[in-house]
Amino acid sequence: MRRARSLVALGSILVALAALAAAGATTPADSLRAVLADPEYVDVSGLAGVAVDLRYAGTNNFMHTNVYGPFARPFLRKPAAEKLRLAAAALLAERPGWKLVILDALRPRSVQRLFWARVVGTPQQPYVADPEQGSVHNFGFALDVTLQDDTGAQIDMGTGFDDFTALAEPQREAELAKAGKLSAKQLENRRLLRRIMTGAGFSQRPNEWWHYDALPLDDARASHSILE
Ligand SMILES: [Zn+2]
Repeated sequence: MRRARSLVALGSILVALAALAAAGATTPADSLRAVLADPEYVDVSGLAGVAVDLRYAGTNNFMHTNVYGPFARPFLRKPAAEKLRLAAAALLAERPGWKLVILDALRPRSVQRLFWARVVGTPQQPYVADPEQGSVHNFGFALDVTLQDDTGAQIDMGTGFDDFTALAEPQREAELAKAGKLSAKQLENRRLLRRIMTGAGFSQRPNEWWHYDALPLDDARASHSILE
C-alpha cells in the first residue's frame, strides 16, 4: 500500500515536471524577444540589394507548415550581416537590378527540433543538422539564399530550396552537368551566386546550393551560444 502510494506520488511529480517543461518550452515569440534584446543580432531585411522570401514563415517549405509564426524576420549576427551587405553590393555592381533573396537566416533551435523530428531515420536526415549539436543557422552565422533577376523572378538553380536530393549538391555539379541533369544555364546561375557569396567571405556547404556559412560550425560553437 505504501509502495502504491509512493508510486502515485512519483507519477504526480512526473506529470508536474512534464507540465513545467511544456510551459517552459521556447516559442517563436520567446525567440523573437531574445533576439530583439541582443544587439549582436541584426535584421538584414533593409539592406540594399537584398530581398526576403523566408520560406519557414509560410507554407512553401518541406514542412508544409508555417513554423516561424511571429519569428518572421531575417536576422544574422553582426559579422555575417556585414558579409551579406558586401555580397549584395557586389551583385548590384555586376548585375544592376538583381537581388540576393534570403530564404532562411537565424533559426531558433526550437524550430531545428521540429525539422529533426520530421527527417530523422529518413533519407533526408543528412541534410538537416541534429538540434543537440546545433546548425550554423541556430548561431546566426548561416544564410540560405538565391538570386532574383531584374524582373523580380528567382532564377533557375536546377532544384528548388530544401530539395534534399543529390541534384542540389554543389559537390556533384560537374557529374550532374555531364549526365545532362543540370543545364549549362543552371550551372552558370549557381556559379554566379557562389562567386558573389564566397567573394564576400561566405563558404558554400557542399550538399546544398542555397546554404552559405559566414563562420564554420566549430568556430560558431566555440565562441557563441545557440538561439533557443
Ligand atoms: Zn541552410
